[in-house]
Amino acid sequence: MGCTTSKPAAKVPMPLRGNNPGPPTEVGYSADPSEAGGSASSAWFGGLFKSKASKYMKGHHWAENDVGEERRIANVPWKPSESPGGAKGASQGGSIPKEVCQPCESSGASAATIGPTDFTIGPTDFEFNCTFPMMVMNMSTFMGLRRMASYEDMIKDKLVFEWKPDMGKVFFLSHQWTSFDHPDPEGEQLEVVQGFLAKVGEGKIKSLFATKEEWLAFHYKETSSMFKFEEVTEEDTEEEMASDVNGGYVWLDYASVPQSMDEAAEEQRLRAIDSIPFYVDHSTCFLAIVPTVEHKDLKGTYCTYNSWRERGWCRLETQVHELRLFKDAEGEMFPGVPRLNLPRRPLIVHSATYATTYDFMDNFYMNWQRKNSVFTGEFACCRLGHKRTKTAGEIATVTCDKTRIRPLVRALFERKNAHMARMHPFVKNLFRWRYVSHMDIMMSDYSEDTAHSNDPDMNSLDDMVRKYQYGEMDLLLFFSDFLPMMRLMIISSPSVNEPDDSPVAGGGGAAILTQANAWVDKWAKACETLEGFQVAHMTSMAVAEGNLGMLEKLHKEHNADLTLGFPWGITLLDFAAGKGHTRIIDYLFRQNLAMDVIDKPSFRERITAIDRACKSGFVEVVDMLVERGVKLSPMRLNRQVPAHGAAIMGHTHVLRRLHELGADLVHAYDVKGKSPLDYAKYYCHKEATEFLRSLHTSEDGLTRYERTESCGSAGCGSAGCGSAGCGSAGCGSAGSP
Ligand SMILES: [Zn+2]
Repeated sequence: MGCTTSKPAAKVPMPLRGNNPGPPTEVGYSADPSEAGGSASSAWFGGLFKSKASKYMKGHHWAENDVGEERRIANVPWKPSESPGGAKGASQGGSIPKEVCQPCESSGASAATIGPTDFTIGPTDFEFNCTFPMMVMNMSTFMGLRRMASYEDMIKDKLVFEWKPDMGKVFFLSHQWTSFDHPDPEGEQLEVVQGFLAKVGEGKIKSLFATKEEWLAFHYKETSSMFKFEEVTEEDTEEEMASDVNGGYVWLDYASVPQSMDEAAEEQRLRAIDSIPFYVDHSTCFLAIVPTVEHKDLKGTYCTYNSWRERGWCRLETQVHELRLFKDAEGEMFPGVPRLNLPRRPLIVHSATYATTYDFMDNFYMNWQRKNSVFTGEFACCRLGHKRTKTAGEIATVTCDKTRIRPLVRALFERKNAHMARMHPFVKNLFRWRYVSHMDIMMSDYSEDTAHSNDPDMNSLDDMVRKYQYGEMDLLLFFSDFLPMMRLMIISSPSVNEPDDSPVAGGGGAAILTQANAWVDKWAKACETLEGFQVAHMTSMAVAEGNLGMLEKLHKEHNADLTLGFPWGITLLDFAAGKGHTRIIDYLFRQNLAMDVIDKPSFRERITAIDRACKSGFVEVVDMLVERGVKLSPMRLNRQVPAHGAAIMGHTHVLRRLHELGADLVHAYDVKGKSPLDYAKYYCHKEATEFLRSLHTSEDGLTRYERTESCGSAGCGSAGCGSAGCGSAGCGSAGSP
């Protein structure tokens, strides 16, 4: 698919941080339709450079509406500034601010006596820039639209206006254009979102989720509700959501951003692009409108959830949403630790009556991969080889959108990391590393594992300690409090109640309990000194980043214990397998450090390395593990096998490989009696469903679950089937302990 699948051979130039020139343009363009994303795109691809289709592709994004014109680099939406707490700003385009104030130092108090408010600073310090106003319409206006109307028409009729923070809740709609001239010519997307919001407005949001688990994932933001984040509504009511909608506003690209082709509108559009972070940041709810809709100029080509997920600009909107800030909420998450309020999870609207979501943890483990980065997404400019034909017929070269938005995306991460650096040490310890370790991964130009997406500024333990801010004794003190809590979380989980003859990975609960206690003891011992604490944590961070060079350095120069893994019981191999860090996996095998743990499950959910690789879609990792004799079908606590995870996420290539390797994909049933096919169907993964169905050779071709459940049960057939679901919520935790 375009330049995104290009192999990162050695000849590919090393991306420059902060000012990446983008991959070579010739990689992004090929006259061979087979490289244009498969049959779906080839129908129009032949007309490239000949018609309007030459400008766009199916499901393009509003920010691409002038594709072909040379446009400036996007402005950075946030820069570290001088704050009341004394933080010094890092230079623009730099890495993590290196001199962020340490509140404990300045106050001189011990960590234990510092309240959460000491770790926060005024919210305006983290405000994104807005250089084109956030133009919205009233919900009633939106509900009355019969067709999406342009900004110019809406302005003329005074139907859009600037949103101000004291006005009310905004619903941000992310979608693809289904024709070249109009975002939604036949109103299909409009009808879906109007119907959906109307139901929410009637106080019936729960009925729009396929299952109760799906609703709970949205409501609690994290399926297992281990962290007790502030819930979406008080007391689990639907009325609050209803009033948000009924008194709310809508931001919709076509109506909120100037569409005209004149120069003034073009400048306004550029400013609106710069202001996307502000718009998403100030929206209460992020909705991806992804019904399966045939492209009106490309007969037989469909805009789907999958195509929305592939678009680079849609990924940017999603990325902004995932990097919104945590806020303090009333109450405590753990004793002495303030409760957090996370932004609402995105609503993936498949039809007027069916939505899914993915929880906070699944997003981190499953979705945050190099292959899902903004820069491995599809951009129209890359398709067109960054060339445009001027009226005189001469060919001009234009800057790649990826180059144009790179500083913008980096600033999103810098803001998030800087904000988390000011939070309670406990919160920092639990969550900040996830963002810091994934900044370069999520800015990667390549899906494959190469050193290109490693942070070039990391050359020593000190560099890592500075980056992750593990220099403070306070963090060590809080970690000492965390470990007993971790132990409690493991020993109180249902996993330890499994009988000795349990079929789940790792077997009976008694054995797991012994291993878990030994694991936590080992961490406690390793962290007795500040240096031990730092080496142990930075080793796991090096693996999280996929930074092989740093891992080797820590191993060789600091005697890092590579068997420590992560404190909550997952191994370095586990983490690397779930992220496709093949170089790390290879290193662990070469050190003979992975064989003992190749089949080791996590203590709570009993998830193993191959399970993670399958659910994350890394067939090459599956092969590496199989070559070394991994158990092909380990079972989770919920009785799911790796094929379930692959089916949930729609990874057909993984399912095919598992089948070739001899795994039974048909007679595998989880606690709900569901087989992989039942999940592929639930999440509307067309290709995976067809493949799995072909393996069901019984006379009626049905799964056991289908025979017992009547059609119309949760999820079944109610969505715009054919659109690829994301899979995650309500299907067992993906990677949480
Ligand atoms: Zn490009």
